[in-house]
Amino acid sequence: MSAAKRVSIVTGAGSGIGRASARALARRGSAVVVSDINEEGGAETVAMIEEAGGSASFQRCDVSVEADVAVLVERAVSEYGRLDYAHNNAGIGGPPGTIADYEIETWNRILAINLTGVFLCMKYEIPHMLEQKGGSIVNTSSTFGLVGVAGLPAYVATKHGIAGLTRAAALEYARTGLRVNAVCPGATLTPTVEDFFAMVQPDNPKAVEEQFVAQAPVGRMGQPQEIGDVVGWLCSEEASFVTGLTMPVDGGWTAQ
Ligand code: NAD
Repeated sequence: MSAAKRVSIVTGAGSGIGRASARALARRGSAVVVSDINEEGGAETVAMIEEAGGSASFQRCDVSVEADVAVLVERAVSEYGRLDYAHNNAGIGGPPGTIADYEIETWNRILAINLTGVFLCMKYEIPHMLEQKGGSIVNTSSTFGLVGVAGLPAYVATKHGIAGLTRAAALEYARTGLRVNAVCPGATLTPTVEDFFAMVQPDNPKAVEEQFVAQAPVGRMGQPQEIGDVVGWLCSEEASFVTGLTMPVDGGWTAQ
């Protein structure tokens, strides 16, 4: 490994947006620690990166479990000697429902994965980046972290929480060389979104997709790579003056 080689962690990298960002970071020359609770998906992502000539390894991590997160960050540093970039991306949508009917267990689970998971990742990543006097973190929020929507209370609350936590972190560490930003994807075709369509309308998920497409200024959903490439750029030195940004990557959806 050359001294200049960068090292990244991506959570939720066994599928969808995380897989795409892991591949984008690898294309930019970074070694990637691919992490997920889905070991099969994680192994597939590692294989894709290696087939393209990159370096990657898999570490299982449930981002809602502090000990798992500590092991993940330790793995990156012990295997590759440093940590430059992190895409804290793992998240779940959870079932649709209104606040008065939402089960506390469901609420707590979504908060633990989506919001506490991002907090825990940053808590363990930041000390290594401070030691190296630089680094770049990208958290995955959502367009639903920028505007509200009815019927997904925990998801909307956690994604707004990630936007706030990202701004707080960016300001806390602005003078250290560490940058912290968030991507806010619009509707992007990944397994989670397909499951969501099926949950909203089990007899006709395609109809829900068509509703999303009808509201999209660009007339289509996003592809994971279109988010992953932005994450790769935000992590890189090309974005050296960008911190505290909650960046919509949504085909113009929030411009409406
Ligand atoms: P996805 O299902 O393709 O990928 C999510 C991955 O996270 C899965 O591999 C899953 O196993 C993993 N995961 C779930 N719980 C975990 C946990 N506790 N610990 C570690 N990993 C866990 O979904 P995606 O659409 O790629 O979602 C990635 C992120 O993007 C999520 O945070 C999601 O909220 C966000 N997002 C997605 C969209 C979209 O339209 N797809 C839009 C806005 C935001």
